[in-house]
Formats: sequence, C-alpha cells, structure tokens
Amino acid sequence: MTKPRVRFAPSPTGALHIGGIRTALYNYLFAKKHGGSFLLRIEDTDQGRYVPGAEDYIIESLKWTGLIPDEGVGFGGNEGPYRQSDRKAIYSKYAHELVERGHAYFSFDTPDELEARRQQEENFTYNHHTRQGLNNSLTAGMDEAKFRVDSGVPYVIRLKVEPNREIHIRDLVRGDVVFQSSELDDKVLLKADGMPTYHLANIIDDHLMHITHVIRGEEWLPSTAHHVLLYEGFGWKDTMPHFSHLPLILKPVGNGKLSKRDGAKFGIPVFPLSWDGATPEESFEGFREAGFLPEALINFLALLGWHPGGNQEMFSMTELIDAFSIEHISKGGARFDYDKAKWFNQKYIQAMSNSDLALRIKPLLNKKGYTVSDDYLEQVIGLMKERVTVLPDFVDTGYYFFESVKFYDEETIQKKWQADLRSFFTEMTEIFATFEPFESAPLEEKIKNRMQETGIKPGDVLPLLRIALVGTMKGPAVFDTISVLGRDETNRRIHQFLEKVS
Ligand code: GLU
Repeated sequence: MTKPRVRFAPSPTGALHIGGIRTALYNYLFAKKHGGSFLLRIEDTDQGRYVPGAEDYIIESLKWTGLIPDEGVGFGGNEGPYRQSDRKAIYSKYAHELVERGHAYFSFDTPDELEARRQQEENFTYNHHTRQGLNNSLTAGMDEAKFRVDSGVPYVIRLKVEPNREIHIRDLVRGDVVFQSSELDDKVLLKADGMPTYHLANIIDDHLMHITHVIRGEEWLPSTAHHVLLYEGFGWKDTMPHFSHLPLILKPVGNGKLSKRDGAKFGIPVFPLSWDGATPEESFEGFREAGFLPEALINFLALLGWHPGGNQEMFSMTELIDAFSIEHISKGGARFDYDKAKWFNQKYIQAMSNSDLALRIKPLLNKKGYTVSDDYLEQVIGLMKERVTVLPDFVDTGYYFFESVKFYDEETIQKKWQADLRSFFTEMTEIFATFEPFESAPLEEKIKNRMQETGIKPGDVLPLLRIALVGTMKGPAVFDTISVLGRDETNRRIHQFLEKVS
C-alpha cells in the first residue's frame, strides 16, 4: 500500500465524545501501521454551533491519549491551514467552479419562502423534482442568475443531483452500499454568508490534503452518497478516498447509540476529559479525571468495534498498530461496557511500575494537601495497586497511608474486642519499638510466635490490629502495612486505638 493519509475531522461544537476518540484512534492506528500520516482538521464552518474551548479540548484529548497527529491544527504540516475557517476563500472558488461544470446551481429562494413551502408540504425537500418550480439558475437561466449574483442578490449554491441512478459506495467495513440518487436532496454547498457547508468543505479538503482513506462514524454514511457525487462533479473520482464507516457505540444497556447524556444517566464518564459547561447539566466528568490511565482507555476503545481474532485482550499501542486492520472492524454496534473499561484500568495499573504510578498520583496527593516522600509513596503504591480500580482509589480508599485513621469499623470492634487483649497489644508495641529488621515477614513471624507462646488466637488479634492501623477489615496485608507505616506510626495508631476502646 502506498503511504496512506488519513484525517480526524471533528467539529468544535462541545466536548469530544468518546466515540470521537475511537474514530481518531482507528485513523491513527491505520496510518501508523502503514507508515502513513494522521491529520487533525478542525471543521468549524458552522459558526452557529461553534463552542469556544472545544478546539483546545480536542487537542488536549489527543495529547492525553497519545494520538499525536503528524499534521494539523496545533501540530504543523505542509498542507494547511488545517482549520476550515482559515480556508474560507478556497471553498467559494470551488463551489463556483462546480456551477460552471454544470453540477451545481445558484438558488435564490429566501429562507422565508422555503419555510412557507415546508409549512405547506410535509416532507418538502429541495430536490431534482421540486427545483424545477423554485427560484434558481436552472429555472431563471444562467445569464439572469449571474446578473443577480453580480448585483448582490443573496444566493446559495446547491449540488445538482441527477435522478434515476444508483450510487455505489465500496465501504471497506460494510461492503457495497447503494443509494438511489432520486431519493437525495440537492444539498446546499455554499451558504448565503459565503461559508461552505460540511459536505463541500469536507470533500475539497480531503482532496487538497491528499486523503486516501476516510474512516469515520456510521452516521456519515448517508452523506457519503452526496460526497461521491461531489468527487464526480469535480472530476476527482480517480483519487476519491476509500471509505470505512465505523459501527456505533451503544449504550451500556445495549440498545441505542451512546449519548453524552448517558454519562449522567448511568453515572459513568463518556468523555476523555472533563468539560466545564455553562450549567451543571452541560458539564461532564472525563475518563482522565475519573482516574483512568490513557493506555487503558485506548485499549478499551480499540476493542469497541474491532478485534483481530484470538483471545488477546491486552494490547499496548505498539501491539495495536501491529495488529490493526480495517477488515477486522465489525459492522454491528459495540456496547459501551464500563465495567470492562475499569477492568482494563486495573490491569494497566497493576502492570505499571510503582515509580510511574507515583508520578500520576502525586498531583492527587497535592490536591488533598498530603505530603510524603517518593520512597514512601512508592511503597504504598506497591501495597495498594492490586486493590484499586482508578487512580483516586490510592488516595481515597488508601487515605490512611497519608493521614490518621478517620473511621473505625465499630461493628467488628464491638464484636471482637476483649479487655484482656490489651496486654498483648501493649506487648506488640514494645516489640515494634525495637524489633529488627522492621520488615513484614520477620515481624509476622515474631508476632505469631508470641501468640502461640501466650495462647492467643490470631483470629482474635489480627482483625483488630488491622482495624487499629487502617480502620477497616479491608486493605493490604497487616504486616505489610506495618512495615510501610513504620514503627513510630504503627505504635501511635495502636495507642490511639487502645485509648478508643478503653
Ligand atoms: N466534521 C465531521 C464531524 O464532526 C467530520 C465527519 C467526517 O469525518 O467526515 O464528525
């Protein structure tokens, strides 16, 4: 294959949904697999839907997930500008050229006139049939139309869809997809304000940026019929990109497309990063803020609609690049299984080194005002990493490694504490004060020996010792915890506990 050029072309209309990241990912994997280029193009021609901050959000999301474009807004490149609002002049020229070539026409119907028509006729569309009775260069004649255009009469340019033909799209995921041209409307290409619509800008840019493969969401499949007509109209059919339309990401319950509202509904993130909207309803928590590692999110998303066969589930980015192929993208929708995302995150946390995890956890500690040495933090991570799902668990569930115990399991204390255990607890503090080496295994051996010698059952002491140290019955092994807390803190906690139960 010649080196492919693919693009991710989001519109900055708000926070980028997780489906957008999956689209970017598949484009990225395809480009890297074949030594090609991955572009970021910002499609911001619809000024009415433009949301400030959305472009930065897109760029930050790509950086966080490691999907770094080779070219694009914020990333350089020779085929720019890559922001459509910076390319305005290009589109108008091409739209007029398409009129000259007979594949588009000027239309002068005012928005009010078209609205009146819509009121009269249910399902009114501007198409090969209705255009014959409307106010355009096909009915008024080209000379008259040009005169109007030159005299400043407002106009739009529409695609002239010829009826009675089949439009075939050879989709690399779906196979041959056929559309009947008679069912298509004459899409507006250039708006009255001189701005292009998505269809026109998208096709011109894909052509000028030498895009070889378009990999995008299924919702764009119907538009592709119009896009094919545009390629034909411009005489660019020979270099038309290959199309691949990705399956939908479905709601966690399996029916219907995952929407941004589902985040709040199911209490799960559906965006890569948090987004501060104007209102709480429009603000969303991201996977990053929920404590996911980007590597885990990428692995999870890669398998939402693609699998190379076999049983492997854990894929590093390099392995994904290696294994990726469009043929293994599924046609059917993929259910957004949040539990699976958490499973991946656990696996990635467990596989990551303590020092790498420390770098990611330090900001969380700082936010809570905890200060600890790197060495201590790494030891805590070592104890906790088998027990957490998301990064904040280290500081939330494991808070007792960073401050005194705040909550005690009163029920177990009630059930298990007996006054005559006090002397054994005191003896343990004496052992802890001097015992060498202060390490988990020898400490455990020593304490267990003393239990045997004094006829005390481990089941009577160890749960309470654990509660004295961390407040709960859950958590890392008791003697591991002791060795990390250190002798002074261990004893301080035992004394605090003894005071509490007296
Ligand atoms: N701007 C479109 C979007 O927001 C791009 C669709 C395409 O990739 O052609 O998704």
